[in-house]
Amino acid sequence: MFNSLSDRLSATFKNLRGKGRLSEADVDATVREIRRALLDADVAVPVVREFTAKVRERALGAEVNAALNPAQQIVKIVNEELVEILGGQTRRIRLAKNPPTVIMLAGLQGAGKTTLAGKLSKWLKGQGHSPLLVAADLQRPNAVKQLQVNGERAGVPVFAPHPGVSSEFEAATGDPVAVAQAGLAEARSKLHDVVIVDTAGRLGVDAELMQQAANIRAAISPDEVLFVIDAMIGQDAVATAQAFDQGVNFTGIVLSKLDGDARGGAALSVATVTGKPVMFASTGEALDDFEVFHPDRMASRILD
Ligand code: GDP
Repeated sequence: MFNSLSDRLSATFKNLRGKGRLSEADVDATVREIRRALLDADVAVPVVREFTAKVRERALGAEVNAALNPAQQIVKIVNEELVEILGGQTRRIRLAKNPPTVIMLAGLQGAGKTTLAGKLSKWLKGQGHSPLLVAADLQRPNAVKQLQVNGERAGVPVFAPHPGVSSEFEAATGDPVAVAQAGLAEARSKLHDVVIVDTAGRLGVDAELMQQAANIRAAISPDEVLFVIDAMIGQDAVATAQAFDQGVNFTGIVLSKLDGDARGGAALSVATVTGKPVMFASTGEALDDFEVFHPDRMASRILD
C-alpha cells in the first residue's frame, strides 16, 4: 500500500535537492506535484485541497532553518501535515471506568470486521484483558461460525445467539439487538472486562443496515464504535465513511487490508472527512496481522 504515492513524493522532493533557497515558483511547482501524487493515489479532492494549501502556506512562510535545507524543510512540513490528516496523535482505546468496556464494530460486508474482532480480542488478551466476543452479525449465515473460529484461534470465548445457528433462515430471523444485549449481560456475569460486538454489514450502505447498527448502538451504549474500512475500496471510502458516521456516529476507524497493493489514498482521507481518528490497522488475514495505528509512523513510512 502507498508504494506509488511514496515513490511519487520522493521523486518530487528529489527535484529540490541542491537548491539553496526556494522561490515561490519552486514551492508552487512542488505543491502541484504533491497535489497530483495525492489525487493519483485516490486521496479525496477536498482533503488534497486543504492539505496542499497548508503545505504551500507553511513552505512560503517557513522561517529559515539553519539545520534543514529547503528540500528537507518541505519534507518536514509534508510529514507533519500527513500526520495531521491521519488523525494527529495515536488514539488508544478508551476503557470504561466501570467495566466491561464495550466495543462495537461496524462496516460494510467484507470490510474485515469479523477478522478484526478476532485480532482485536487476541491483542486485548495479550494486554491482560479478558475479552468476550459477541456474534451479532446475523445477516451473513457464516459470520457466527467465522467468529467462533476466530475466537477459538485467539483463545477468546464467543457469545453466539444460539450455538446451533446454521441456516440462513435461522440467522436472519434472530434479533441482533437482543443478541448484543444478551452478550453484554453474559460479559457482566462472567466478569469479562471487554466486550467486542461484531455487527452485520451489507455490500453497500443501506438504510435498514444502518438502522440496525444504530439500534444496537443505542441498546448497548458502546465506549467505542470502530468503523472498519477496506483500504482497497478506493474512492467509495469517503462516502461510505460519511454514511456510517451519520448512521452510527463511530468513534474510531480501523483501516483493513493495508497489506494490499491498492493506491490507498482514499483510506487516508477518511479520518479528515469524518474528523475521527484511525486507531488500528489490519495488515493480513492472520490474527497477528494487526497493529495500533500511529499517524506519525505511517507518515514516515509514506515519506520513506
Ligand atoms: P466482514 O464481512 O466485515 O466480517 O469481513 P471478514 O472479516 O469476513 O473479511 C472478509 C475477507 O477479507 C476475508 O476473506 C478475510 O480473510 C479478509 N481480510 C480481512 N482482513 C484482512 C486484511 O487485513 N488483509 C487481507 N489481505 N485480507 C483480510
